[in-house]
Amino acid sequence: MPKCLICEKNYQPFVNFGEMPIANAFATKEEMNNEYTFSMKVGYCESCNMVQLVEQPDREQMFHDNYAFFSSTSNYMQNHFKVFAHSVSKLQNLDKKSFVVEIGCNDGIMLQNFVTDKIPCLGIEPSKNVAEVAREKGIEVITEFFDQNLAESIIAKHQKADAILSANVMCHIPYMHSIYDGIKALLADDGVFIFEDPYLGDVIEKTSFDQIYDEHVFLFSAISISHLANMHDLELINVEHQITHGGSMRYTIANKGVKKVSENVINRIKKERKLGLHNSEAYSSFANDVDQIRDDLIKLLITLKNEGKKVVAYGATSKSTTVTNYFGITPSLIECIYDTTPIKQNKYSPGMHIPVLPYEQFHESNPDYVLLFAWNHAVEIMNKEKDFMSNDKHWITYIPKVEIN
Ligand SMILES: [Zn+2]
Repeated sequence: MPKCLICEKNYQPFVNFGEMPIANAFATKEEMNNEYTFSMKVGYCESCNMVQLVEQPDREQMFHDNYAFFSSTSNYMQNHFKVFAHSVSKLQNLDKKSFVVEIGCNDGIMLQNFVTDKIPCLGIEPSKNVAEVAREKGIEVITEFFDQNLAESIIAKHQKADAILSANVMCHIPYMHSIYDGIKALLADDGVFIFEDPYLGDVIEKTSFDQIYDEHVFLFSAISISHLANMHDLELINVEHQITHGGSMRYTIANKGVKKVSENVINRIKKERKLGLHNSEAYSSFANDVDQIRDDLIKLLITLKNEGKKVVAYGATSKSTTVTNYFGITPSLIECIYDTTPIKQNKYSPGMHIPVLPYEQFHESNPDYVLLFAWNHAVEIMNKEKDFMSNDKHWITYIPKVEIN
């Protein structure tokens, strides 16, 4: 039986997705024959309520210098982080004597706002080519992994942090205790650690199983984060739900007993208990729901194929790798995936090897049905393609259930 990464108790996996490639490893023809895979199972620990990947894929395979993800390519996210940064400045009354640290600063999408406001800040970003982009924005960046040693050396060179921030990074890190040891050391007495990640409550409620892929070691909830913070003499003092990435949660953590715990925390934990996030039954019923989506979607795709319809997909997302590989969606069911990201274009989807073509060719392809992998941007995308799709063309979505629009 696997051991919990947080409390070291044994637990059982509740869903087994089988052999999975790296979600973001869009491959050339040569690379296709030599793909790395790992066994993707997810478990729930009854003792500390943490939901986690059972097997950790090789980190070198996921985060390397060719890592394709640059946060700042999305205008929507630019604005999201601007609002995030300003809310932190307001909460902590930050000024030129303050100090902000971001763990996993990516290309500086958040910290650039502190640079503009002349609030001293420091980014930590192990991915060197991404860090370089942040440096070009005038942000000081350390290209190392964050832990207590790094925290001590930051304090020696700078000062303790009034705010430590992180977005879509914590859930990627298996060694959570060394991160929290570092945070405990680096945090000023009245400092706050604020981070956001995809939210377990949304995953369970919407059956958004495609949030589960190699990079997401953990799916956090207020219950599990509150427990983890306690283990390090810290306290969860606020939670704020975000609509980003198909449903995320922003958690605020402070030194124990220093700041008032918001009503939001109490209410959210109540909601989570109602949803059953503290109970293994919720997870086995989630696994059944995923299999129902699989059966319905495959049945639909086979029917459309037999009817001679042209079916393509929209958005070569990381999430889609879980969908295509677990469901067995090959190029015989979906001709190709259209995507706007140049680095993915003219490559093949991980595992199932569906061709990824430039978005510019989408309209001329004249499909009958379009499977929307980027479902978390459904409203924007459907609006953008409204005129094109009006002409007897249909969207297929599958979260929370298979639907044709
Ligand atoms: Zn545990």
